[in-house]
Amino acid sequence: MAIKLAKNTEDMPSKRQLFLSHVAQTSDFPLMLEVEKADGMYIYTSNGDRYFDLNSGISVSSLGHRHPTVMAAIQEQLDKHLHTMVYGEHIQHAQIAFAKKLTGLLDDSLESVYYFMSGTEAVEGAMKLAKRYTGRHQIISCSNAYHGSTQGAESLRSDHEYSRAFLPLLPGISHITFNDASELDQINHNTACVILEPVQAEAGVHPPVNNYLQKVRARCSEVGALMVLDEIQTGFGRTGRLFAHEKYEVVPDVLCIGKAMGGGMPIAAMVSSLEIMKSLQKNPMLGHITTFGGHPVSCAAALGNLTALLEENIITPVLEKEKVFLDKLKHPIIKEVRSSGLMMAVELTKRKFLKHVVAHIIEQKAIVDYFLFNDRSFRLAPPLIISLEQVDEACEIILTACEYAEGRYGG
Ligand code: PMP
Repeated sequence: MAIKLAKNTEDMPSKRQLFLSHVAQTSDFPLMLEVEKADGMYIYTSNGDRYFDLNSGISVSSLGHRHPTVMAAIQEQLDKHLHTMVYGEHIQHAQIAFAKKLTGLLDDSLESVYYFMSGTEAVEGAMKLAKRYTGRHQIISCSNAYHGSTQGAESLRSDHEYSRAFLPLLPGISHITFNDASELDQINHNTACVILEPVQAEAGVHPPVNNYLQKVRARCSEVGALMVLDEIQTGFGRTGRLFAHEKYEVVPDVLCIGKAMGGGMPIAAMVSSLEIMKSLQKNPMLGHITTFGGHPVSCAAALGNLTALLEENIITPVLEKEKVFLDKLKHPIIKEVRSSGLMMAVELTKRKFLKHVVAHIIEQKAIVDYFLFNDRSFRLAPPLIISLEQVDEACEIILTACEYAEGRYGG
């Protein structure tokens, strides 16, 4: 077949056209920033614009973009080796170094790390692990939770607007209402696990109230169900502690982590006791396997990320920054700001304001995002390295957008 060559640059399709033609889309309205590079708090586009990142690629770039410690760790690993063998066969320094450091920071019972490439895989792994360990098949999750888009994780969604299109999904899944302790009796001796986020993210940032997580923990222990905490979005300092379960004072049986773990590289994991984890080892052996889980470059990046998080005093100031956001984000069209650390939802008084406020923030060259299950709130999840001056700047941008939306669309 003859290839049609463009005669001059004017005939060349733009990157925008190529993106729309050849990179699969998941909505009709992608943001379409043409990314040239990213550094610290900023993303730079091909046309020379600089965007102030208040979203961190949805809670991924917690250390900002291209943090030097992460970059150095990646570079060092690149000079040693890439993939050598499917997960769990070879001893790779990068995997053991991160696992040792991480488990040293967790409760003693969280001692064994199974690596994945994405959050949804960690959730899949945790579901299989719980079934295998308990010999039960019923799984309970919370309504308005999001745990990933593969079919097992998708089955945990309560929102049938999404999941209906993909039926049949996994049987044996039921939902309880987050923060409603009266429903905990649904967790019983048939339950393999309860899987939940310590702070519901996509529902629009709902932290636990009235010791809800401790009550779930107690009920799980009582009936022998595993408590699986999905800290994929809350982990690695986002809520002002290394993990939200420390903040809310519970220890899960299985901890799922991802997103910010790799400092911008793809990596996720589930962490559990050796006793629980060993149930994927026998009858059948190879109970869960993956080729690229725990890729050495991602593990090296994760170790660099964790080292910088701890050594550069990034987590402790999160609560002070959160407080400034909460103090400053006051406006007649802001109903409330819900938060846990720098995981924040700005809820507006009326649904109609949302898209105009978000659009005006983006016009001012700052990035915020929507939630999956909340049509009145937008997400604020800046890199944790944001300075106090930048917090002020972010609040000014948001308040300007609120002023604009109220003036134009209020009444
Ligand atoms: N759990 C939670 C709480 C999440 O926020 C996400 C991603 N938004 C996932 C699981 C799925 O992670 P991934 O997109 O890496 O598969």
